[in-house]
Amino acid sequence: MRLESKTAIVTGGGRGIGREIGRRFAAEGAHVLLADIDGARAEAAAEEISAGGGRATPCTADLGLPEGVGQMFETARDCFGDRLDILINNAGIAHHGAFLELSFEDWERVLRNNLTSAFLCAQGAARVMAAHGGGRIVNIGSISGQRGSYGRTAYGVTKAGIHQMTRIMAVELGPRGIAVNAIAPGPIDTGITSMGPDQERRYLERIPLERFGHARDIAGTALFLASDEAAYLTGSVVNVDGGFDAAGLIFSYTELTTVKSDVRDPTRSD
Ligand code: NDP
Repeated sequence: MRLESKTAIVTGGGRGIGREIGRRFAAEGAHVLLADIDGARAEAAAEEISAGGGRATPCTADLGLPEGVGQMFETARDCFGDRLDILINNAGIAHHGAFLELSFEDWERVLRNNLTSAFLCAQGAARVMAAHGGGRIVNIGSISGQRGSYGRTAYGVTKAGIHQMTRIMAVELGPRGIAVNAIAPGPIDTGITSMGPDQERRYLERIPLERFGHARDIAGTALFLASDEAAYLTGSVVNVDGGFDAAGLIFSYTELTTVKSDVRDPTRSD
C-alpha cells in the first residue's frame, strides 16, 4: 500500500494509460479522481475500481479549456477537501501530419489538448499543493518530444513542451515541497498509435527490448514517481520505451554487415 490515504487526480483516466494508472494507484490505497472528456469512459473506469474495493470518482471535463479544468478542481475539492497529493497529467491526443500540410486548426487543436491542458491542470494542482504542504506531479510526455521524426510537428512540439515545463516547474516549485517529473513513453499498445502491420514491424526492429510497451509499464513508473521511494527525484524526464530513444535509428546486424562489406568491396558486381 504505497499510496495509503493519498489523493490523486489522473487526467485522461477513462482509458489506456490513464485508466491503468488509476487502477494501480487505487490498488495501492489512493482515492483517485478519473477525469476524462468522455464521461461514460470515466464512469466505467471508476466503477471497475470500486467493484474491486478501491476508491475512485469519475469526472467529465474537457481539460483543454479553463472552464473544464475549473470543473475538475471543483469535483476534486468535493472529494478531497483542500488536499491534493498527486496529479498525473496524462490526457492527450495523437496526431500525425506532414509539416508542409499541417493546418492552423490541427496545430491549435493538438496544442490545446496536449500542452495547454497539461499547463492548466499542473498550475491548478500546484496551487492546491503549495497551499497544503506540497505534492507530486507526473506529466506524461513522449519519446516524440525527445527526438525528431516524421509527421510529429504538432504532437512532438507539445511533448517537448511538456518535458521543458516539467523542468521549469521542478525549479520553481521545489522550494514549496512539490516534486515534478515526466514520463516519456515509447510506443505503448493502447490503440492511440493505431499502426499497420508494416509500421509495427519497423518499430519493433528499432526497440531493443523487442516489444511494444504496455500501459502497466507506464503505471509502474508513475507509481514509483508518486511514492516515497522517489522523494529526492524532481525535474527528470524518464524514458519508458524499451530502449527506443537510446537506440536511435539503429541498423540490424545483417544491415551492418551489408554496409561493412559494401565498404570493403566497392567493386562487387551484385
Ligand atoms: P488514450 O487515447 O487511450 O487515452 C487518453 C484519454 O484522454 C482518452 O480518453 C481521451 O479522450 C482523453 N482526452 C484527450 N483530450 C482530453 C481533454 N482535452 N480533456 C479530457 N480528456 C481528454 O491515450 P493513451 O492512453 O495511449 O495515452 C495517454 C498519454 O500518453 C497521452 O498524453 C499520450 O500522448 C501519451 N503517450 C502515449 C503513447 C502511446 O503509444 N500510447 C506514447 C507516448 C505518449 P478522446 O479519446 O476522446 O480523445
